[in-house]
Amino acid sequence: MSVLLTGGTGFVGSHTAVELINAGYDVVIADNLSNSSADVVDRIGRITGVVPPLYVIDVADKTALNKLFDERSIDAVIHFAGYKAVGESVARPLMYYRNNLDTALSLLETMEEHGTRIFVFSSSATVYGDPETVPIDESSPAGSCSNPYGRTKYFVEKILSDAAAADPDLSVVLLRYFNPIGAHESGLIGELPSGIPNNLMACITQAAAGILEQLSIYGADYPTPDGTGVRDYIHVSDLAAGHVAALRYAQDHKGCEAVNLGAGRGFSVLEVVRAFEETTGVHVPRRFAPRRAGDIAMCYAGTEKALKVLGWRAEKSLEDMCRDAWRWQRNCGPGTDP
Ligand code: UDP
Repeated sequence: MSVLLTGGTGFVGSHTAVELINAGYDVVIADNLSNSSADVVDRIGRITGVVPPLYVIDVADKTALNKLFDERSIDAVIHFAGYKAVGESVARPLMYYRNNLDTALSLLETMEEHGTRIFVFSSSATVYGDPETVPIDESSPAGSCSNPYGRTKYFVEKILSDAAAADPDLSVVLLRYFNPIGAHESGLIGELPSGIPNNLMACITQAAAGILEQLSIYGADYPTPDGTGVRDYIHVSDLAAGHVAALRYAQDHKGCEAVNLGAGRGFSVLEVVRAFEETTGVHVPRRFAPRRAGDIAMCYAGTEKALKVLGWRAEKSLEDMCRDAWRWQRNCGPGTDP
């Protein structure tokens, strides 16, 4: 079975390519390399023994997409390609709406023309906004997102569920990610933020490596046990395995399902920093800073549906995530010359 990964050279896409190839799927990647590099496909090859074909195209470009679908017989699509920086989405909302909606629409139209009826979407827990209660399960209200990036995820979810309602042959799975961190245990693929990172683990590893002067801990006065923000961190390889499970599910079911991909427990910023220091033996220089605009106090996933519907759950520990993120940073991460 042949699966197209849009954004397949990115952080989650590349790890999903590895898990799919290891599970016996044929993977084709489409990526415009706007936030990743072409050598990722060789690294996927070094891990799996298979270098997936890479189409350097813009997924919003229907002519280019059509050519790809004409050349390859695509049975399913997993759609990762999209802009994902929250702050940038606030500053340039139209760019986010244009790109993130156009890519999804072009894909859906091209799939319809070529009879491809399985669509797995890289969505986000950000669609839940600031939750009233935790854990957050899939029946929690979605749509009150605090920024344009989150709204693009929510709008694409709606487009997909409307498309599935209108077409009884379409199978859609909306995967709502919590906080993917870590890297492949080989140290060959991982997160490569361009410029100053936003995400916690990238900031921790760069502070530990001396690239950032120190980690800023945004807020020590949240209503959480130690005052710092609590999130559901999930190892990116676990998350990638969740996509394989979603694809298997979509092969046997029609309609549209939203499923959380999280580990189901929350860790505070300070707990993550301490786990990193204990696992790696490396000190993380840090300071407390004011809360970051738009951040919420606490968020972690209800995971029952993922287990019941997909037969999947996260396996790896916070220590695994810290160890693998640090190995990646030292081997190939920002500031290294791999
Ligand atoms: N965070 C932090 N310092 C950083 C980056 C993040 O204290 O340099 C905190 C942030 O306030 C939140 C948590 O780490 O409580 C996770 O933030 P991240 O940006 O990784 O993910 P989010 O859940 O906000 O999408």
